Amino acid sequence: MKGLSIVVPCYNEEKSVVKTIEDLTSTISKLRINFEIIAVDDHSSDKSLELLQDCKGPLSIISNDIQLGYGGALKRGIAKAKHDAVLIIDADGTYSCDSIPQLIQTFEKEGLDMVVGSRTKKDSQISRSRKFGKWFIVKLATYLSGRHIPDLNSGLRIMKKEVIDKFIHILPNGFSFTTTITLAMLTNNHFVKYIPIDYLKRTGRSKIRPFKDTSNFFLLVARTIMYFDPLKIFLPLSAVLFFVGLILILIRIFVRPMLISTTIITFVAGFMILSLGLLADLIDKRTK
Ligand code: UDP
Ligand code: MG
Repeated sequence: MKGLSIVVPCYNEEKSVVKTIEDLTSTISKLRINFEIIAVDDHSSDKSLELLQDCKGPLSIISNDIQLGYGGALKRGIAKAKHDAVLIIDADGTYSCDSIPQLIQTFEKEGLDMVVGSRTKKDSQISRSRKFGKWFIVKLATYLSGRHIPDLNSGLRIMKKEVIDKFIHILPNGFSFTTTITLAMLTNNHFVKYIPIDYLKRTGRSKIRPFKDTSNFFLLVARTIMYFDPLKIFLPLSAVLFFVGLILILIRIFVRPMLISTTIITFVAGFMILSLGLLADLIDKRTK
């Protein structure tokens, strides 16, 4: 590996940010690779920024004048990264640095575009309310992308900078950053691998709001797939309408002559959705 840029977004993590930076520095130093750590303070109102400024080692600090959000902080850090490989990790102490060497090794050896630490080990500390929402979203994402996704939005991952740059225009400022990059890579046939890791209990409070963020994630999954693979959404929709239309015709022929306008509307709607899907697909292919 020529070099590694590590980006750490931080918003009010005074309890854990220093330890995160120290652990990162000691873990990566042992690997003898050229690296930099970029901490992005996302306008914290606690002592995070001062604590970061006192840290030693190959650390540069970006300080946001306003709170941009998780994705916004990451994007600022990534824009400044000088190496081809970018590793992201939370500043809240939930991801242990112990798994990083394995992540780097896999990324390097297999020439992948992204290696994700998936929080699927038995005793990973993910709360119940979150697991429930997650289950649905992951199922939807798996169906729509046609790929197995053990963890959609893990915050520990290593990626090729050039691939992030390719998708930078659709990457959001909020928590959906990781979901979006996962879906973008999978639907565009980039090489992604998952490695099981531990997920520890958080020190401070999580900034995610389980219900609001779950519904937003739902919309996000549908929109991202629409963006890269619109037929995945339009085809099943029009198929359902054609199928209902067919049943209505059969009822008309074999049971009794009724529902003529409903039948026509259903067929026309099916046809229009199919045309829209083909048009969306055409636009997608032309702009690539
Ligand atoms: N974070 C940020 N800006 C925000 C919210 C969060 O920089 O507006 C940071 C936060 O300090 C943490 C990371 O982004 O290091 C992920 O946030 P959090 O741990 O709250 O999310 P979770 O891991 O619970 O999904
Ligand atoms: Mg976290």
